[in-house]
Amino acid sequence: MKSARAKTPRRPALKKPSNSSLKDPVGVYCRVRPLSRPDQECCIEVINETTVQIHPPEGYRIFRNGEYRETQYSFKEVFGTLVVQKELFDVVAKPLVEDLIRGKNGLLFTYGVTGSGKTHTMTGSPGDGGLLPRCLDMIFNSIGPFQAKRFVFKLDDKNGVEVQCEVDALLERQKRDAMPVTKTPSGKRQIDPEFADMINVQEHCKVEEVDEDNVYSVFVSYIEIYNNYIYDLLEETPFEPIKPKPPQSKLLREDQNHNMYVTGCTEVEVKSTEEAFEVFWRGQKKRRIANTQLNRESSRSHSVFIIKLAQAPLDADGDNVLQEKEQIILSQLSLVDLAGSERTNRTKAEGSRLREAGNINQSLMTLRTCIEVLRENQMYGTNKMVPYRDSKLTHLFKNYFDGEGKVRMIVCVNPKAEDYEESLQVMRFAEMTQEVEVARPVDRALCGLTPGRRYRNQAFKEELARKLELRGGPIDGEPPEEQFGLESPLESFPPLPPCELLDIEDDQMVPKLMEVLEKRRQMRQALSEEFSKNALALKKILQDFDSNVASKEKYFQAKLSEKEKTIAGQKTELERLEKKIKTLEYKIEILEKTTTIYEEDKRSLQQELENKNQKLQRQASDKRRLEARLQGMVTETTMKWERECERRVAAKQLEMQNKLWVKDEKLKQLKAIVTEPKTDKPERPSRERDREKPAPRSVSPSPAPSAPPVRLRQRRSRSAGERWVDHKPASNLPTDTVLQPHVPHAITVAAASEKALAKCDKYMLTHQELASDGEIETKLIKGDVFKTRGGGQAVQFTEIETLKQESPTGRKRRSSPSNPDPPEDAADSEWTDVETRCSVAVEMRAGSVLGPGYQHHAQPKRRKP
Ligand code: ADP
Ligand code: MG
Repeated sequence: MKSARAKTPRRPALKKPSNSSLKDPVGVYCRVRPLSRPDQECCIEVINETTVQIHPPEGYRIFRNGEYRETQYSFKEVFGTLVVQKELFDVVAKPLVEDLIRGKNGLLFTYGVTGSGKTHTMTGSPGDGGLLPRCLDMIFNSIGPFQAKRFVFKLDDKNGVEVQCEVDALLERQKRDAMPVTKTPSGKRQIDPEFADMINVQEHCKVEEVDEDNVYSVFVSYIEIYNNYIYDLLEETPFEPIKPKPPQSKLLREDQNHNMYVTGCTEVEVKSTEEAFEVFWRGQKKRRIANTQLNRESSRSHSVFIIKLAQAPLDADGDNVLQEKEQIILSQLSLVDLAGSERTNRTKAEGSRLREAGNINQSLMTLRTCIEVLRENQMYGTNKMVPYRDSKLTHLFKNYFDGEGKVRMIVCVNPKAEDYEESLQVMRFAEMTQEVEVARPVDRALCGLTPGRRYRNQAFKEELARKLELRGGPIDGEPPEEQFGLESPLESFPPLPPCELLDIEDDQMVPKLMEVLEKRRQMRQALSEEFSKNALALKKILQDFDSNVASKEKYFQAKLSEKEKTIAGQKTELERLEKKIKTLEYKIEILEKTTTIYEEDKRSLQQELENKNQKLQRQASDKRRLEARLQGMVTETTMKWERECERRVAAKQLEMQNKLWVKDEKLKQLKAIVTEPKTDKPERPSRERDREKPAPRSVSPSPAPSAPPVRLRQRRSRSAGERWVDHKPASNLPTDTVLQPHVPHAITVAAASEKALAKCDKYMLTHQELASDGEIETKLIKGDVFKTRGGGQAVQFTEIETLKQESPTGRKRRSSPSNPDPPEDAADSEWTDVETRCSVAVEMRAGSVLGPGYQHHAQPKRRKP
């Protein structure tokens, strides 16, 4: 028996993957299943082809800083509720099958909480097969015609594969067929209708460009990881109805290529989709039974269906598999339906179940930790140990992350509100997983044989088949080559007659024998002639072929060296470009870091600017307000002071005019006093003229000053009761003093009038002026009224009462003329002095003017003398 160990297409013993720099991120896809009932509250929406949005459901809303949070997660692709299995398969699983056939490893797992559609996605349901049956279908559609005969490839117990020659394979087949009880998974047996429905995949999917010069074989195994124990779901256990043995757990081991495998795991060689799926279904049934028998929670186990594909090239003739172990490629695709990712308390497990649940959770936790550490190592260049060994699940798939392969994950989510918190966890994990990179598997080197071997002897094989058909069809189960064998030309010769001579008289036998022999001789001659002709032809063909081969060899040799040169050139170019990529990546990293720093700076500066702007605005508005207030105050004060000034000016003017007038009058009186004793009568007219001289401001048409002077001291009888003219100009202010001047029987006038004076014999003028200290001073100027000779009235001022208000901190109030306080200035004293020393007589003439605001127009009534 010739056998060869295959080299699995995984990384070499080195820690670093062979295809060092080429890495792909883990492809993470998200599938949102439809709600079970239309009235269920939904918390997940598909935003676009790559994004989903998850928001807290009613009554569950998280408020952080008063904000209602909805989060978006991005994946390589998002499949909404309407996406059918075929679409998902085309995007996610098809490339993995293509890789498998090209000799590369793949891992596909579904992740999510229980009920989110993991099993629906992986296995599918009747009439709606999932990824697993579709993968199987595609594999067999692709390699169908190029499959090796059963047992040509033989898996060993060390995760390797051997190839044996056709004869050994045939013997083994016969041995198996001879076994009476062994179940032979052939398509002819009765199949489960439910199962049949699941593999009824209508789409005829296949990989293009399958290497036809290879032969292929598919092996499947199905394991379950429960409570951190590995169970073989395909193991044949003898049926023991009384006390069924609990399933035995399996161990993990590392092969010589550092790949992990389950020791003693059943691996079944399958030749069709039906057969493969039947094996899967068998395992599935077993799983169900075990779960019921052992009271296990099925959602807490991980199931792993492994499809191994062995392929080896055909030999140079294209008839048999090349018996060279280096040429065998074994690739595998692992389809993993993970346990529900929900936390333990959700299912309210108790006791040992809780412990088990903990362990199962532990394996998912370890998966998360491994992914996290991997990500960190890759992103930050750290070298932390990835704890693959902490759980069977991660340990089994260590190669995929540590070595090379394609890893894809489908995150299944149920959009119902109850799953919100768990779905959030799932999304976070999934998003993180996307950042992990896995080394891209290298392309396998082609075997050195010329392509097109499978069909090289096509014509010959067809001829053979035709001949066999003529002879009654092929022997069932035997390869056509084997059936052919060596056709003996003797069989076509005429049979020899019996050559036993029993009768001496028999003269027929010898001639007959001679005849037959002669025929045979002739046939032999013809045959040998044909043979030599054929041999010659063959020789010629061979010679042609040889020369052809030689020339082709030369040609190919030249081409080969040429190609080698190009490859070498391209390799150096590739290296150069890789180096360049690395430096550029480094630069990009630095730039990104710088950008982040700048952005942060920008943000803080913007914040500062905003703050300052706000402050400035506040200040400006404050300023405006202040300005407006000040403006108001200024106008108010200005108006107040203007009014005050006007008032003071008016008062001062009044005072000055009064003073002027009084002084004027005083002077005249004095002059009269001085001149009276000497020139009593004759002087009168002149005095009268003098007195009238300082009245230039007179505006009234005064009559001629021709009236004779009145005898000054002639008074009216006082006993009869004096009548007063109380002259109070309208502009006066109320005095508000306690002792108000009270004049009985008075005629109060606002302006001096002839009519009033005629009726009275006393005159009093209330005069106000502004004192030097800013206070108002009120003076009551009193006098006697005389009749002049001309028929008018004259007033002789006799006394002045002064009312003065003062601040208590200043001088005392002077309320009467009898006040003994000394006069405050010279002018006053002079005035008082004059006032006391002489009684001033003023003859008030009609038309005389006292000054502005004080115009005493006393129009005399003409009387007859
Ligand atoms: P899991 O394996 O995650 O616990 P299942 O795959 O068993 O969840 O799904 C639970 C139920 O939801 C099943 O009845 C399944 O038919 C249904 N289901 C899941 N995903 C879908 C989907 N995409 N479309 C329709 N039904 C689905
Ligand atoms: Mg499930």
